[in-house]
Amino acid sequence: MDFLTMTIGKQKNIALIAHDSKKHEMIDWCREHKEILKGHFLCGTGTTARMITEATGLPVKGYNSGPLGGDQQIGAKIVEGRVDFVVFFSDPLTAQPHDPDVKALLRIAQVYDIPIANNKATADFLITSSFMSEEYEHKIINFHQNIAERARTL
Ligand code: PGA
Repeated sequence: MDFLTMTIGKQKNIALIAHDSKKHEMIDWCREHKEILKGHFLCGTGTTARMITEATGLPVKGYNSGPLGGDQQIGAKIVEGRVDFVVFFSDPLTAQPHDPDVKALLRIAQVYDIPIANNKATADFLITSSFMSEEYEHKIINFHQNIAERARTL
């Protein structure tokens, strides 16, 4: 399979998402890493984004609330190359009405080789990585060639 080299810029486009039981943990995490987060572009699902901005003053562009399609919007931005880093504090102990959307987001982040943290420890490791202040090159499937191949062979 053919791959394209894509670059995650020095300034990352970071999506922040927290399920309800994790929202305060997310706010605390944003406070803790505010100086680093200030240097990047932030977005998030609606309620998470609003609560982070109110609590920390960080500008976070809000999409729809998660259960109303916010995770899918963020997934679409990954596909378009407009989100390249995700911190998603999901709740492993509570059933979510939008579980298929959550799975879809995790899957698409994997397809596009996007760094994604689903708990605080991973988020701490990611945010303190030297790659946060550098460009990072990674390889993703050549989607144009993929379509051409599929159309030719199926
Ligand atoms: P919310 O959505 O930030 O609007 O609460 C998060 C989620 O449940 O996925």
